[in-house]
Amino acid sequence: MFELYDTLSRSKKAFKPVSGEVKVFVCGPTVYDYLHLGHARTYIAFDIMVRYLRFLGYKVRYIMNITDVADRIVDRALKLNTEPLALAKQFEKAFLDDLASLGITSIDRFERASDYIPEIIGQVSGLVKRGIAYETNTGVYFEVSQFPAFGKLSGLNKEELGLRRFELCSSKKQPEDFSLWRKYPRDTLGWDSPWGYGRPGWHVEDTAISMKHFGNTYDIHGGASELIFPHHEAEIAQAEALTGEIPFVRYWLHTGLLNIGGRKMSKSLGNVIRIQDAVKVFTPAQLRYYFASFHYRRPITLSETQIKRAGRAAKRLQDNFMRFNQTPVGTRGTRSIISLVDKFEAKFKRFMEDDFDTPRALRTLADLSQLLSFHARRKRQIDPEVKAVVERRFRAMADVFGLV
Ligand SMILES: [Zn+2]
Repeated sequence: MFELYDTLSRSKKAFKPVSGEVKVFVCGPTVYDYLHLGHARTYIAFDIMVRYLRFLGYKVRYIMNITDVADRIVDRALKLNTEPLALAKQFEKAFLDDLASLGITSIDRFERASDYIPEIIGQVSGLVKRGIAYETNTGVYFEVSQFPAFGKLSGLNKEELGLRRFELCSSKKQPEDFSLWRKYPRDTLGWDSPWGYGRPGWHVEDTAISMKHFGNTYDIHGGASELIFPHHEAEIAQAEALTGEIPFVRYWLHTGLLNIGGRKMSKSLGNVIRIQDAVKVFTPAQLRYYFASFHYRRPITLSETQIKRAGRAAKRLQDNFMRFNQTPVGTRGTRSIISLVDKFEAKFKRFMEDDFDTPRALRTLADLSQLLSFHARRKRQIDPEVKAVVERRFRAMADVFGLV
């Protein structure tokens, strides 16, 4: 049985998509700077998951948003004396280059927040009309007390929610209320709205995008675990309060942190390794093999030694397959090798379907590559049809990791 660990229910749940098409939404970056290996870890993890769903034959629609409207972008643009949206475009380009350099190819569409202002205003209006959001002199806020289920994703209680408030604003009714729209003077980036000129809050940008494409309920929403609160908690509140439909998302998937020297890799701590620098030293196969050799939910402590070791393992796998690939075709081939592939493929799937246990699935694939290489050496020739079948099936599995 295919099971995924759902952050909301805190358990593994059988995977059953809403419809024949699996809808996947993963939070993209706020484009005000270059991305680092922590981002790479998350985006590679979801790339592997989506590749695996497609390997199984699922039709998947995978959307990633790009946060190009945010205070951090406006602040940085002001410092650099440039336009916020121009700055965002520049870092969006760098982000897309990063994804390409890591072999991340599974995303169908990228959607910018700035292209969804009417949808965002529509959602905020809907929440105000339902009495769940209120306007003050600084903006429009989601009134958390109107949505009693608030906290169900993060598991934080009311006191903790109040303490974890992240926007200080004296006009709010309660500290945990979060902004849907902020009013700003006209000399900064913004749009007209029923509440005056201003900019949307971060959380509502993502629900406006995902619900426009996926409707009120969809399958998988992913992101780094640091997005659980407040971002994803707020997304659930907005969507479910607006539509009354529960659940907004069937499976919440979150990746573990990437640590470096005992601390989380983050821009604010100044300990980041940019993707653009990492790919000058390591190949995409090396990095992908490295990240896939940890379960996606586990924290990773970055280690250059381990990346190099992963690189050697990736090369071994590729060399083994090459050796098999170069076996001369002939009539003395054996079909027994097909049953070997059957056996390993079943194992590979069993691991992947246990909440994407990529470390064990990857080891299974590496073992299979070794046996294929032995087989090629021992038999010295192989039936062309058998060879073609084995190659196709091995490639399909290796492609889930982006290794061939
Ligand atoms: Zn998001």
